Amino acid sequence: MATADSPTDLMERIVALCKRRGFIFQSSEIYGGFNGFFDYGPLGAELKKNIRDCWWDDMVRRRDDIVGLESSIIMHPKVWEASGHVAGFTDPLVDCKVSKQRYRADQLFFAQVFIENVEFGPESINALVDKGRIKKEYGEALTNGKFNPQSVSVGYVSALESERTKEELNEKAEEFKKKFQIRGQLRPIDRTLHDMTEAGADEIALIPSPATGEPGSLTPPRSFNMMFQTNVGAMTDGSSVAYLRPETAQGMFVDFKNVVDTGRVKLPFGIAQIGKSFRNEITPRNFIFRSREFEQMEMEYFIHEDADWKKCHDEWIEWCKNWLLSIGLPESHLSLYAHPQEKLAFYSKGTVDIMFQYPFGVQELWGIAARGNYDLTQHATASGKPMEYFDEATKKKFVPHVIEPAVGVDRILLAALCAAYAEEDVKDDKGNVEKRTVLRFSPRLAPIKVAVLPLMKNKPEIVDVAEKLYRKLKRKWNVFYDESGAIGRRYRRQDEIGTPWCVTIDFETIEKDGTFTLRERDTMQQKRITETELFQLLEEKVY
Ligand code: ATP
Repeated sequence: MATADSPTDLMERIVALCKRRGFIFQSSEIYGGFNGFFDYGPLGAELKKNIRDCWWDDMVRRRDDIVGLESSIIMHPKVWEASGHVAGFTDPLVDCKVSKQRYRADQLFFAQVFIENVEFGPESINALVDKGRIKKEYGEALTNGKFNPQSVSVGYVSALESERTKEELNEKAEEFKKKFQIRGQLRPIDRTLHDMTEAGADEIALIPSPATGEPGSLTPPRSFNMMFQTNVGAMTDGSSVAYLRPETAQGMFVDFKNVVDTGRVKLPFGIAQIGKSFRNEITPRNFIFRSREFEQMEMEYFIHEDADWKKCHDEWIEWCKNWLLSIGLPESHLSLYAHPQEKLAFYSKGTVDIMFQYPFGVQELWGIAARGNYDLTQHATASGKPMEYFDEATKKKFVPHVIEPAVGVDRILLAALCAAYAEEDVKDDKGNVEKRTVLRFSPRLAPIKVAVLPLMKNKPEIVDVAEKLYRKLKRKWNVFYDESGAIGRRYRRQDEIGTPWCVTIDFETIEKDGTFTLRERDTMQQKRITETELFQLLEEKVY
């Protein structure tokens, strides 16, 4: 992994590389950008396409039990009523009335500051009351000595969720002590750490806004629907309201009958889809990790109502994990998180997330949910059209249950970038140490598979062979032709964009046996290789 100093530093370097080399740009940059939206440049578009293609090949084409689907982004609004999104696809939102900032309540943390063996004078207590840190009556009680000095609460601190939320809260609590001239030992804030969804009505007024550092401006959490609305047709009144889909999954449920009736599918089988989804996220952040327009790859695997759902769920978790390994994500960065039973929706039998260790913390990459027959039943009830499956073997009709692996293309792309990014010291031809930035993408994902480099651009025999090889490779893979600059510099340019191999056409190629120099990105080792061997290598590694 990278040698960058801190996680923030590392993210900044990755973001800078993405812009510098044309992977990812801010959307509408010339107008100052548009928060939560991104554009994929020439290399990013290739990388993204490779992720989609690998998933589609492995999930759909190479299996016998899964078929594909491409449903529309805007569907009948009743779809979203039946699915529960109109009523319940909400995030709890907290506003800061002073700064006008909005926060997701579950991402805004606070802690009560407790001081043990406290010592403070009346000035400190007055200041705490004046600054709204404690209530007046409580201040009076403290002034009158009606407290147990063993442990006194003196107010609250707050911080946004990050990889160092706890440290930040502790630092703020220390500053708090200094600011109000309070002596005593700070009780570790872990013991009173909560997010804003858990804040009591009395507490909210005392919790400082992360924007201003002062209490009194935060609102209680309220529900905010994350679906983007639009109007369909000429009218722009309530009757024409429609939504940009917040997930692709509903397409598979709504078209379930169509696929069963036409697709010659038999249980268990899956319907898979890749496509854009839109969520009006309150706090888009961490680069492309949480954005407002993103792409999902979802699959609904329908099973018999009496099938062993747990076994099937476990098998899909395993499949998804292995797939991530096959595209080069390191196992050391992956972990599983099982949602606690009490936090699951009433219809959910179990959800396990595959987590990835991003530089900004361990976060959800892929959710694998056992959803029972909730979605199909909801649509059957709302539409009046049965969503049953007729089982030839038992001659029984029933509504199948479903296991749903749902993942974001952008989150995989970010995971692949973070895992691949490395900076290292290497020696050049003259023995001087220089820094090399390298993206160690797996050959499956690398935007460019091979760079074809003629050693010299003014030797027609060399250029001729190089161009021919380039054209031949290009029919099957995305390859790059580069004849400008010293060969070492050309190698570095390819390292930085993650090209696994460079082939150099040199004098030996034209004068001797037609072999090329193959230079390997990760080891930087070189060897001679024939054209046939080169094609074999690519066939084997890029699948
Ligand atoms: P989160 O808790 O991070 O908001 P979620 O649990 O709501 O995610 P799902 O509704 O299960 O996410 O969506 C499935 C997958 O879609 C997620 O695992 C993630 O990979 C991706 N995804 C969801 N929201 C976003 C987003 N705003 N930006 C990018 N990818 C997203």
